[in-house]
Amino acid sequence: MRLTRTLISIISAALTLTAIAGCTTGDEPVVESREALGTVVSITAYGPDEQAVRGAIDDAFAVLSEVEAELDAHDETSAISRFNADPYEEQALPPGATEILDAIERLGVDDAFSPRLLAVVGLYRFEDGGTVPDADDLKLASRAASEFLRLDGDHAAFVHVESDDARLEPGGGLAPGLDLGGAAKGLALDRARESLRASGAVTAALITSGSSTVTLGTKPDGSVWRIGIEDPRDPDTIVATFAFTADGALSTSGDYQRYFEADGKRYHHVLDPATGLPAAGMRSLTVAGTGLSGLDSDILSTALFVRGADGASAYADKNDLALYAVDDEGQALLVPAPESSGLTVAEEATPR
Ligand code: AMP
Ligand code: MG
Repeated sequence: MRLTRTLISIISAALTLTAIAGCTTGDEPVVESREALGTVVSITAYGPDEQAVRGAIDDAFAVLSEVEAELDAHDETSAISRFNADPYEEQALPPGATEILDAIERLGVDDAFSPRLLAVVGLYRFEDGGTVPDADDLKLASRAASEFLRLDGDHAAFVHVESDDARLEPGGGLAPGLDLGGAAKGLALDRARESLRASGAVTAALITSGSSTVTLGTKPDGSVWRIGIEDPRDPDTIVATFAFTADGALSTSGDYQRYFEADGKRYHHVLDPATGLPAAGMRSLTVAGTGLSGLDSDILSTALFVRGADGASAYADKNDLALYAVDDEGQALLVPAPESSGLTVAEEATPR
């Protein structure tokens, strides 16, 4: 497993906090960082009874494992991998997948967020250090992906993509399938937050996977939850901070999170569904909102990264969301949330 520097710094921050939190009185948090969702997830939770808080955190991590078993397309034993093994067979989708498809439609971002890119992403072989895909293969896989799934308002319809090319048949290497990696972490964090809330033991909490974060309630001392955004070209520098007073969510998509370079060009993992090529124009994009779910923030960071600066700021403005982005020339773009929302964004440094 690859740990990015961000995640490592989350772990060291968490270790420091754990040390401080030795004997909690309800004013000090319990902090736990564990491997989950293919990364490191950290939970910071407050509550009057430390043992009960620890039990609630264990349960929340179990919930994260359940989401992985449901939606991780790279684990061949997951429910979504069973679906992908024969996507043309009449079969029920895992409930989390249905929830994600519904959210894409509700948010109106089907043009930019495609849950169908399994074979297209696979052509880049990010897990093996990266390969530039053959242009014809990319075209074929992208066309098949777009034809394969229709989101038509009522339900998802899967279409058997006709072709002479056997590689498009199940098991053929380019067969369409669902890759929910751009949304599943957000959904998982929502479920973990609900688990903490339902425990009755936790009065306030923050759960972060690095790229997505959700908050629950207000800290005992009333201070804000503060989340730093790293410079996409210098992860040790915080370029902006988002501050929430209560429940909220935030996600970042970036060209530095998963990428390789070939012929002097950066190939990163956020793809334009229209071409199958890495989306151009942005280095990183963070979207946040109070009352926003982790799922919606995760879908939106990916989708708005693809739409680019103008499309992203128009969407954020219209939907009362906060946005901080860095474009491919290093220019920062900030869209504040409405003052009444309890969410503020501050620029801390100029991106490199
Ligand atoms: P995120 O870091 O949330 O932006 O998600 C990126 C991941 O989502 C990638 O690693 C792919 O698995 C998948 N993905 C890439 N491009 C898209 C897209 N346009 N829409 C939906 N998922 C995508
Ligand atoms: Mg996302």
